[in-house]
Amino acid sequence: MRVGVLGGGQLGRMLALAGYPLGARFTFLDRSAGGPAAQVGDMIVGGFDEPARIAEVAEQVDVLTFDVENVPAAAVREAGAEHLCRPGLAALEAAQDRLAEKQCFESLAIPVPPYRTVDSREELDAAIEAVGLPAVLKRRRLGYDGRGQRFIHRPEEAGTALEELGGDDLVLEAFVPFDREVSMIGVRTPGGTTAFYPLSQNRHDQGILRFSRAPAHGAATAGVARDYVERLLRRLDYVGVLAVEFFEAGGELLANEMAPRVHNSGHWTIEGAVASQFENHVRAVLDLPLGLTDPTGVSAMANLIGTMPDTRELLRIPGLHLHDYGKSERPGRKLGHATLVARDEEAFAAPLERLLELAWPNHRNA
Ligand code: AMP
Repeated sequence: MRVGVLGGGQLGRMLALAGYPLGARFTFLDRSAGGPAAQVGDMIVGGFDEPARIAEVAEQVDVLTFDVENVPAAAVREAGAEHLCRPGLAALEAAQDRLAEKQCFESLAIPVPPYRTVDSREELDAAIEAVGLPAVLKRRRLGYDGRGQRFIHRPEEAGTALEELGGDDLVLEAFVPFDREVSMIGVRTPGGTTAFYPLSQNRHDQGILRFSRAPAHGAATAGVARDYVERLLRRLDYVGVLAVEFFEAGGELLANEMAPRVHNSGHWTIEGAVASQFENHVRAVLDLPLGLTDPTGVSAMANLIGTMPDTRELLRIPGLHLHDYGKSERPGRKLGHATLVARDEEAFAAPLERLLELAWPNHRNA
């Protein structure tokens, strides 16, 4: 069984690490020959917009999946590889465009923050009038980890934000004064069997995920989140892992975005669940029975971003699991993550304090 993965980053690497014990082997496509996945599988070097390279991967594999969502569907179709894709291209396309994504949520009665599309200055002014300020202007495509978005607090900031984001193909969203951010990760097999992880509670800083905890405290909304993700999995005839990020405000959930792939807020499942999101994605795309998604304790995961903390110091923390993706340092780049799992939060309070001190020194002010 060989799995082709479009994208050769850390998600691909963790898919392969979970897939090897199941007997799966991996071929990756990435522009960079030296990405994290190159350490654990065959690498074909090329762009996601090169049908010939996609076809080369497709020839070697039983199924094709993604470690990034921004693969142009047209290139996959031109490569004649559409039938191999799990999840399918419809899911990929729905997640690539913030407008299509919001319309998909709305058609399933999944609430979203008030929004308007923006393709000109006049439309931005009308959108501000409609959704109010503060608001967030976002590129419809190719934005992630806080890239491609600007917060607008006062009307005078609108012009600069519009210019910086290219002037069109945007959406303006009302700023949501959320109590917290949570995400639900679900998985579905080709036969329609579904499974869900406990709700994760997530903290972002400058648009980038810094920290997740699961199961989320007092997860009264977990059942609702699960129901929403179930609706999406069915509507999209989805195969594999799907992650949906929500804002929780006043006990209600508003969908922010979905990722048609394994997700950073589910990295804790590697050590903190019976079968990880990576293992279950591989199982689902290969049409194998799913593993249990039950948590083995309470988990906390911190991303290591920009500069790598002293790994010796990290490894001194009792019970810590380190994942170093082997990337060079760069501001805002995800270089690794570390996870703590314990039977209850009290048991990891002190190790967690030390982890945050090393991994996210200004976490108290963020
Ligand atoms: P996104 O790329 O849409 O996931 O946004 C990255 C992060 O920016 C989110 O996880 C939030 O922390 C913040 N953010 C994005 N949109 C909004 C919004 N409409 N209201 C409040 N915060 C937001």
